[in-house]
Amino acid sequence: MNRIKVGILGATGMVGQSLVQLLEKHPWFEVTELAASERSMGKTYADLMQERWGISPKIPEYARDLVVKECKPDLDCDLVLSALDSSVAFEIEETFAKNGYAVSSNAKNHRMESDVPLLIPEINYEHVDLIKAQQKRRGWKGFIVTDPNCSTIHMTLALKPLYDRFGIEKLMVTTLQAVSGAGYYGVSSMDIIDNVLPYIKDEEEKMESEPLKILGLLAKDSITMAQFPISAQCNRVAVKYGHTECVSVKLGKKASVEEIIDAFEKFNPLGEMGLPSAPKRPIIYSRGDNRPQPKLDADNENGMASTVGRLRKCSILDYKFVVLGHNVIRGAAGAAILNAELLKVKGYLDTI
Ligand code: NAP
Repeated sequence: MNRIKVGILGATGMVGQSLVQLLEKHPWFEVTELAASERSMGKTYADLMQERWGISPKIPEYARDLVVKECKPDLDCDLVLSALDSSVAFEIEETFAKNGYAVSSNAKNHRMESDVPLLIPEINYEHVDLIKAQQKRRGWKGFIVTDPNCSTIHMTLALKPLYDRFGIEKLMVTTLQAVSGAGYYGVSSMDIIDNVLPYIKDEEEKMESEPLKILGLLAKDSITMAQFPISAQCNRVAVKYGHTECVSVKLGKKASVEEIIDAFEKFNPLGEMGLPSAPKRPIIYSRGDNRPQPKLDADNENGMASTVGRLRKCSILDYKFVVLGHNVIRGAAGAAILNAELLKVKGYLDTI
Protein backbone atom coordinates (compact mmCIF):
# COMPACT_ATOMS: atom_id res chain seq x y z
CA MET A 1 0.00 0.00 0.00
CA ASN A 2 1.25 3.51 -0.83
CA ARG A 3 1.70 5.40 2.37
CA ILE A 4 0.05 8.83 2.73
CA LYS A 5 2.51 11.73 2.64
CA VAL A 6 2.58 13.68 5.88
CA GLY A 7 4.08 17.04 6.82
CA ILE A 8 4.75 18.09 10.42
CA LEU A 9 4.24 21.79 11.21
CA GLY A 10 6.15 22.81 14.33
CA ALA A 11 8.43 19.78 13.95
CA THR A 12 11.13 21.27 16.18
CA GLY A 13 9.04 21.66 19.33
CA MET A 14 8.14 19.32 22.18
CA VAL A 15 5.12 17.84 20.40
CA GLY A 16 6.80 18.04 16.98
CA GLN A 17 9.66 15.78 18.04
CA SER A 18 7.21 13.30 19.49
CA LEU A 19 5.38 13.26 16.13
CA VAL A 20 8.70 12.63 14.34
CA GLN A 21 9.40 9.75 16.72
CA LEU A 22 5.93 8.17 16.71
CA LEU A 23 5.68 8.24 12.91
CA GLU A 24 9.03 6.49 12.40
CA LYS A 25 7.51 3.18 11.34
CA HIS A 26 3.90 4.09 10.80
CA PRO A 27 2.11 1.60 8.53
CA TRP A 28 -0.08 4.21 6.78
CA PHE A 29 1.84 7.49 6.98
CA GLU A 30 5.20 8.58 5.64
CA VAL A 31 6.73 11.87 6.81
CA THR A 32 7.93 13.75 3.75
CA GLU A 33 8.11 17.31 5.08
CA LEU A 34 9.14 19.04 8.30
CA ALA A 35 8.39 22.72 8.87
CA ALA A 36 8.81 25.29 11.62
CA SER A 37 9.53 29.02 12.03
CA GLU A 38 11.89 31.19 10.01
CA ARG A 39 14.46 30.61 12.76
CA SER A 40 14.69 26.95 11.79
CA MET A 41 14.23 27.14 8.02
CA GLY A 42 16.92 25.80 5.70
CA LYS A 43 18.74 23.62 8.25
CA THR A 44 18.63 19.84 8.40
CA TYR A 45 16.55 18.36 11.18
CA ALA A 46 19.63 16.66 12.63
CA ASP A 47 21.55 19.96 12.80
CA LEU A 48 18.67 21.80 14.37
CA MET A 49 17.78 19.17 16.91
CA GLN A 50 21.21 18.04 18.13
CA GLU A 51 20.83 20.18 21.27
CA ARG A 52 17.07 19.77 21.65
CA TRP A 53 16.30 16.11 20.84
CA GLY A 54 15.38 14.52 24.15
CA ILE A 55 12.74 11.83 23.82
CA SER A 56 14.75 8.83 22.63
CA PRO A 57 18.45 8.00 22.23
CA LYS A 58 18.55 8.96 18.52
CA ILE A 59 16.71 11.11 16.02
CA PRO A 60 14.97 8.66 13.65
CA GLU A 61 17.16 8.05 10.60
CA TYR A 62 14.45 9.07 8.08
CA ALA A 63 14.23 12.58 9.58
CA ARG A 64 17.90 13.45 10.00
CA ASP A 65 18.55 14.86 6.53
CA LEU A 66 15.15 16.41 5.89
CA VAL A 67 15.59 20.16 5.50
CA VAL A 68 13.17 22.10 7.68
CA LYS A 69 10.93 24.39 5.61
CA GLU A 70 8.68 27.36 6.18
CA CYS A 71 5.03 26.61 7.09
CA LYS A 72 3.69 27.50 3.64
CA PRO A 73 1.13 25.43 1.72
CA ASP A 74 3.56 24.25 -0.94
CA LEU A 75 4.72 21.18 1.00
CA ASP A 76 4.86 17.82 -0.75
CA CYS A 77 2.25 16.05 1.37
CA ASP A 78 -1.53 15.61 1.66
CA LEU A 79 -1.95 15.61 5.42
CA VAL A 80 -0.32 17.96 7.91
CA LEU A 81 -0.02 17.32 11.61
CA SER A 82 0.22 20.67 13.36
CA ALA A 83 2.26 21.14 16.54
CA LEU A 84 2.47 24.89 16.09
CA ASP A 85 2.62 27.41 18.85
CA SER A 86 -0.88 28.79 19.33
CA SER A 87 0.31 32.34 18.57
CA VAL A 88 0.68 31.32 14.90
CA ALA A 89 -1.43 28.17 14.52
CA PHE A 90 -4.73 29.87 13.68
CA GLU A 91 -3.68 31.47 10.43
CA ILE A 92 -1.21 28.85 9.26
CA GLU A 93 -3.62 25.96 9.76
CA GLU A 94 -6.41 27.80 7.93
CA THR A 95 -4.07 28.55 5.02
CA PHE A 96 -3.25 24.86 4.68
CA ALA A 97 -6.93 23.82 4.89
CA LYS A 98 -7.91 26.43 2.29
CA ASN A 99 -5.23 25.06 -0.02
CA GLY A 100 -6.56 21.53 0.10
CA TYR A 101 -4.58 19.92 2.91
CA ALA A 102 -6.09 17.79 5.66
CA VAL A 103 -4.97 19.35 8.97
CA SER A 104 -4.87 17.41 12.25
CA SER A 105 -4.03 19.96 14.93
CA ASN A 106 -2.79 19.99 18.49
CA ALA A 107 -3.27 23.72 18.92
CA LYS A 108 -6.12 25.28 20.86
CA ASN A 109 -7.15 27.85 18.25
CA HIS A 110 -9.89 26.05 16.28
CA ARG A 111 -11.05 23.55 18.92
CA MET A 112 -14.26 25.26 19.99
CA GLU A 113 -15.42 26.44 16.57
CA SER A 114 -18.85 24.99 15.86
CA ASP A 115 -17.89 23.29 12.57
CA VAL A 116 -14.51 21.91 13.70
CA PRO A 117 -14.39 18.38 15.13
CA LEU A 118 -12.75 18.16 18.58
CA LEU A 119 -11.96 14.48 18.60
CA ILE A 120 -11.14 11.68 20.98
CA PRO A 121 -11.92 8.71 18.71
CA GLU A 122 -12.86 6.42 21.62
CA ILE A 123 -15.51 8.96 22.65
CA ASN A 124 -16.87 10.80 19.64
CA TYR A 125 -15.52 9.47 16.35
CA GLU A 126 -18.84 10.31 14.68
CA HIS A 127 -18.07 14.04 15.21
CA VAL A 128 -15.57 13.68 12.36
CA ASP A 129 -18.54 14.15 10.01
CA LEU A 130 -18.61 17.86 10.96
CA ILE A 131 -15.95 18.12 8.25
CA LYS A 132 -18.72 18.16 5.62
CA ALA A 133 -20.37 21.20 7.23
CA GLN A 134 -16.99 22.87 7.63
CA GLN A 135 -16.06 22.47 3.98
CA LYS A 136 -19.48 23.57 2.80
CA ARG A 137 -19.63 26.63 5.05
CA ARG A 138 -16.06 27.75 4.41
CA GLY A 139 -15.66 26.63 0.82
CA TRP A 140 -12.40 24.85 1.67
CA LYS A 141 -10.94 21.94 -0.29
CA GLY A 142 -9.13 20.76 2.82
CA PHE A 143 -10.26 20.81 6.45
CA ILE A 144 -9.16 21.02 10.08
CA VAL A 145 -9.74 18.55 12.88
CA THR A 146 -8.39 19.10 16.40
CA ASP A 147 -7.45 17.15 19.49
CA PRO A 148 -8.24 18.46 22.97
CA ASN A 149 -6.04 20.05 25.59
CA CYS A 150 -3.62 17.55 27.17
CA SER A 151 -5.33 17.43 30.59
CA THR A 152 -8.79 17.44 29.03
CA ILE A 153 -8.03 14.30 26.99
CA HIS A 154 -7.21 12.16 29.99
CA MET A 155 -9.98 13.46 32.21
CA THR A 156 -12.61 13.11 29.48
CA LEU A 157 -11.52 9.57 28.64
CA ALA A 158 -12.09 8.68 32.30
CA LEU A 159 -15.43 10.48 32.37
CA LYS A 160 -16.93 8.91 29.26
CA PRO A 161 -17.79 5.46 30.69
CA LEU A 162 -19.25 7.13 33.80
CA TYR A 163 -21.24 9.60 31.70
CA ASP A 164 -22.72 6.81 29.59
CA ARG A 165 -23.59 4.45 32.43
CA PHE A 166 -24.49 6.73 35.33
CA GLY A 167 -24.69 10.30 34.03
CA ILE A 168 -22.65 13.18 35.45
CA GLU A 169 -24.21 16.08 37.37
CA LYS A 170 -21.09 18.07 38.24
CA LEU A 171 -17.40 17.70 38.87
CA MET A 172 -14.29 19.32 40.25
CA VAL A 173 -10.73 18.63 39.16
CA THR A 174 -7.30 19.71 40.39
CA THR A 175 -4.35 19.03 38.09
CA LEU A 176 -0.62 18.55 38.65
CA GLN A 177 0.82 19.10 35.19
CA ALA A 178 4.24 18.20 33.86
CA VAL A 179 6.70 20.82 32.60
CA SER A 180 6.80 19.29 29.09
CA GLY A 181 3.22 20.50 28.73
CA ALA A 182 4.52 24.06 28.49
CA GLY A 183 6.64 23.35 25.39
CA TYR A 184 10.37 22.85 24.97
CA TYR A 185 11.35 26.30 26.22
CA GLY A 186 8.21 26.56 28.34
CA VAL A 187 8.89 27.10 32.04
CA SER A 188 12.17 28.45 33.38
CA SER A 189 14.02 25.90 35.52
CA MET A 190 14.47 28.64 38.16
CA ASP A 191 10.69 28.94 38.43
CA ILE A 192 9.82 25.26 38.61
CA ILE A 193 12.59 23.39 40.47
CA ASP A 194 11.51 22.83 44.06
CA ASN A 195 8.26 24.61 43.35
CA VAL A 196 4.61 24.44 42.24
CA LEU A 197 3.12 27.09 39.97
CA PRO A 198 -0.61 27.54 40.66
CA TYR A 199 -1.48 29.10 37.31
CA ILE A 200 -1.38 27.85 33.71
CA LYS A 201 -2.71 30.39 31.23
CA ASP A 202 -6.13 29.47 29.76
CA GLU A 203 -5.89 25.88 31.07
CA GLU A 204 -8.80 25.99 33.48
CA GLU A 205 -11.09 27.51 30.85
CA LYS A 206 -10.16 24.72 28.41
CA MET A 207 -10.81 22.00 30.98
CA GLU A 208 -14.16 23.52 31.84
CA SER A 209 -15.41 23.82 28.25
CA GLU A 210 -13.78 21.22 25.98
CA PRO A 211 -15.21 18.09 27.71
CA LEU A 212 -18.73 19.38 27.09
CA LYS A 213 -18.14 19.56 23.35
CA ILE A 214 -16.38 16.18 23.26
CA LEU A 215 -19.19 14.48 25.20
CA GLY A 216 -21.82 16.33 23.15
CA LEU A 217 -24.00 14.90 20.39
CA LEU A 218 -23.60 15.52 16.70
CA ALA A 219 -26.81 17.19 15.53
CA LYS A 220 -26.54 17.67 11.76
CA ASP A 221 -24.14 20.61 11.35
CA SER A 222 -23.06 21.25 14.94
CA ILE A 223 -22.60 19.71 18.36
CA THR A 224 -25.19 19.85 21.12
CA MET A 225 -23.01 20.26 24.18
CA ALA A 226 -23.20 18.04 27.24
CA GLN A 227 -24.64 19.98 30.18
CA PHE A 228 -22.88 19.85 33.54
CA PRO A 229 -20.65 22.28 35.42
CA ILE A 230 -16.92 21.64 35.75
CA SER A 231 -14.64 23.49 38.14
CA ALA A 232 -10.92 23.11 37.35
CA GLN A 233 -7.76 24.20 39.18
CA CYS A 234 -4.54 23.71 37.21
CA ASN A 235 -1.01 23.61 38.60
CA ARG A 236 2.42 23.14 37.05
CA VAL A 237 4.70 20.75 38.97
CA ALA A 238 8.32 19.63 38.61
CA VAL A 239 7.52 16.43 36.69
CA LYS A 240 8.91 15.84 33.20
CA TYR A 241 6.10 13.84 31.54
CA GLY A 242 2.59 12.93 32.73
CA HIS A 243 -0.30 15.03 33.98
CA THR A 244 -1.97 13.90 37.22
CA GLU A 245 -5.58 14.95 37.78
CA CYS A 246 -7.61 14.57 40.99
CA VAL A 247 -11.29 14.40 40.08
CA SER A 248 -14.40 14.53 42.32
CA VAL A 249 -17.66 13.75 40.58
CA LYS A 250 -21.39 13.74 41.31
CA LEU A 251 -23.09 11.06 39.26
CA GLY A 252 -26.61 11.13 37.82
CA LYS A 253 -27.55 7.90 39.59
CA LYS A 254 -26.24 5.63 42.32
CA ALA A 255 -23.26 3.40 41.54
CA SER A 256 -21.02 1.11 43.56
CA VAL A 257 -17.22 1.15 43.45
CA GLU A 258 -17.30 -2.20 41.63
CA GLU A 259 -19.71 -0.91 39.00
CA ILE A 260 -17.55 2.13 38.35
CA ILE A 261 -14.36 0.08 38.04
CA ASP A 262 -16.23 -2.27 35.72
CA ALA A 263 -17.22 0.71 33.55
CA PHE A 264 -13.57 1.85 33.34
CA GLU A 265 -12.27 -1.64 32.55
CA LYS A 266 -14.85 -2.54 29.91
CA PHE A 267 -14.33 0.71 28.03
CA ASN A 268 -13.01 -0.15 24.57
CA PRO A 269 -15.34 1.41 22.03
CA LEU A 270 -12.97 1.34 19.05
CA GLY A 271 -12.85 -2.45 19.17
CA GLU A 272 -12.16 -3.72 15.68
CA MET A 273 -11.81 -0.36 13.93
CA GLY A 274 -8.15 -1.15 13.35
CA LEU A 275 -6.51 2.22 14.07
CA PRO A 276 -2.81 1.38 14.45
CA SER A 277 -2.18 3.83 17.33
CA ALA A 278 -5.29 2.99 19.35
CA PRO A 279 -4.46 1.51 22.75
CA LYS A 280 -5.93 -1.91 23.48
CA ARG A 281 -7.03 -0.57 26.85
CA PRO A 282 -7.75 3.18 26.65
CA ILE A 283 -8.42 3.25 30.40
CA ILE A 284 -6.38 1.15 32.79
CA TYR A 285 -7.67 0.88 36.33
CA SER A 286 -4.76 0.52 38.76
CA ARG A 287 -5.61 -0.99 42.14
CA GLY A 288 -2.46 0.00 44.05
CA ASP A 289 -2.97 2.53 46.86
CA ASN A 290 -0.16 4.71 45.56
CA ARG A 291 -0.99 4.61 41.86
CA PRO A 292 -1.16 6.07 39.29
CA GLN A 293 2.20 7.87 39.30
CA PRO A 294 3.79 9.78 36.40
CA LYS A 295 7.07 7.90 36.75
CA LEU A 296 5.41 4.46 36.65
CA ASP A 297 2.24 4.91 34.62
CA ALA A 298 2.65 7.69 32.03
CA ASP A 299 4.03 5.22 29.46
CA ASN A 300 1.22 2.66 29.79
CA GLU A 301 0.09 1.37 26.36
CA ASN A 302 3.01 3.26 24.77
CA GLY A 303 1.81 6.49 26.33
CA MET A 304 -1.67 6.17 24.79
CA ALA A 305 -3.68 5.05 27.87
CA SER A 306 -5.21 7.02 30.71
CA THR A 307 -4.52 5.30 34.03
CA VAL A 308 -7.11 5.69 36.78
CA GLY A 309 -6.76 4.77 40.43
CA ARG A 310 -7.71 5.63 44.01
CA LEU A 311 -11.44 5.43 43.39
CA ARG A 312 -13.18 6.16 46.68
CA LYS A 313 -16.20 7.92 48.20
CA CYS A 314 -16.20 11.70 48.26
CA SER A 315 -17.86 13.30 51.28
CA ILE A 316 -19.04 16.30 49.23
CA LEU A 317 -19.78 14.84 45.78
CA ASP A 318 -20.21 11.06 45.17
CA TYR A 319 -16.79 9.69 44.21
CA LYS A 320 -13.22 10.84 43.75
CA PHE A 321 -10.36 9.32 41.77
CA VAL A 322 -7.00 10.11 40.21
CA VAL A 323 -6.40 9.96 36.46
CA LEU A 324 -2.98 10.23 34.89
CA GLY A 325 -1.67 10.20 31.35
CA HIS A 326 1.22 11.10 29.09
CA ASN A 327 0.69 14.71 28.10
CA VAL A 328 2.91 14.73 25.00
CA ILE A 329 1.85 11.32 23.60
CA ARG A 330 -1.86 10.71 24.34
CA GLY A 331 -2.22 14.36 25.30
CA ALA A 332 -0.91 15.66 21.97
CA ALA A 333 1.21 13.90 19.31
CA GLY A 334 -0.34 10.43 19.66
CA ALA A 335 -3.81 12.00 19.76
CA ALA A 336 -3.23 13.91 16.51
CA ILE A 337 -1.97 10.72 14.84
CA LEU A 338 -4.96 8.72 16.11
CA ASN A 339 -7.26 11.41 14.68
CA ALA A 340 -5.43 11.19 11.35
CA GLU A 341 -5.90 7.41 11.37
CA LEU A 342 -9.62 7.96 11.98
CA LEU A 343 -9.70 10.34 8.99
CA LYS A 344 -8.22 7.61 6.82
CA VAL A 345 -10.61 4.91 7.98
CA LYS A 346 -13.59 7.23 7.48
CA GLY A 347 -12.48 8.07 3.92
CA TYR A 348 -11.64 11.73 4.53
CA LEU A 349 -8.12 11.35 3.16
CA ASP A 350 -9.30 9.71 -0.09
CA THR A 351 -10.34 12.99 -1.68
CA ILE A 352 -7.43 15.13 -0.50
P1 NAP B 1 6.99 24.21 21.57
O1 NAP B 1 7.91 23.19 22.11
O2 NAP B 1 7.12 25.61 22.05
O3 NAP B 1 7.07 24.18 19.95
C1 NAP B 1 6.44 25.16 19.16
C2 NAP B 1 6.67 24.91 17.68
O4 NAP B 1 6.05 25.99 16.96
C3 NAP B 1 8.15 24.90 17.28
O5 NAP B 1 8.37 23.93 16.28
C4 NAP B 1 8.35 26.30 16.69
O6 NAP B 1 9.37 26.35 15.70
C5 NAP B 1 7.00 26.53 16.03
N1 NAP B 1 6.78 27.96 15.80
C6 NAP B 1 6.84 28.98 16.70
N2 NAP B 1 6.63 30.17 16.07
C7 NAP B 1 6.44 29.89 14.76
C8 NAP B 1 6.17 30.68 13.60
N3 NAP B 1 6.09 32.02 13.66
N4 NAP B 1 6.01 30.04 12.41
C9 NAP B 1 6.10 28.69 12.32
N5 NAP B 1 6.37 27.89 13.39
C10 NAP B 1 6.52 28.47 14.59
O7 NAP B 1 5.45 23.83 21.88
P2 NAP B 1 4.82 22.36 22.07
O8 NAP B 1 4.74 22.02 23.50
O9 NAP B 1 5.44 21.42 21.11
O10 NAP B 1 3.30 22.63 21.63
C11 NAP B 1 2.91 22.70 20.27
C12 NAP B 1 1.39 22.93 20.22
O11 NAP B 1 0.74 21.81 20.82
C13 NAP B 1 0.93 24.17 21.01
O12 NAP B 1 -0.14 24.78 20.34
C14 NAP B 1 0.51 23.59 22.34
O13 NAP B 1 -0.41 24.37 23.02
C15 NAP B 1 -0.07 22.24 21.92
N6 NAP B 1 -0.03 21.19 22.94
C16 NAP B 1 1.11 20.90 23.61
C17 NAP B 1 1.13 19.87 24.55
C18 NAP B 1 2.36 19.47 25.33
O14 NAP B 1 2.25 18.57 26.18
N7 NAP B 1 3.53 20.07 25.12
C19 NAP B 1 -0.03 19.14 24.78
C20 NAP B 1 -1.19 19.46 24.08
C21 NAP B 1 -1.18 20.48 23.14
P3 NAP B 1 10.87 26.94 16.00
O15 NAP B 1 11.61 25.85 16.73
O16 NAP B 1 11.40 27.19 14.64
O17 NAP B 1 10.69 28.16 16.83
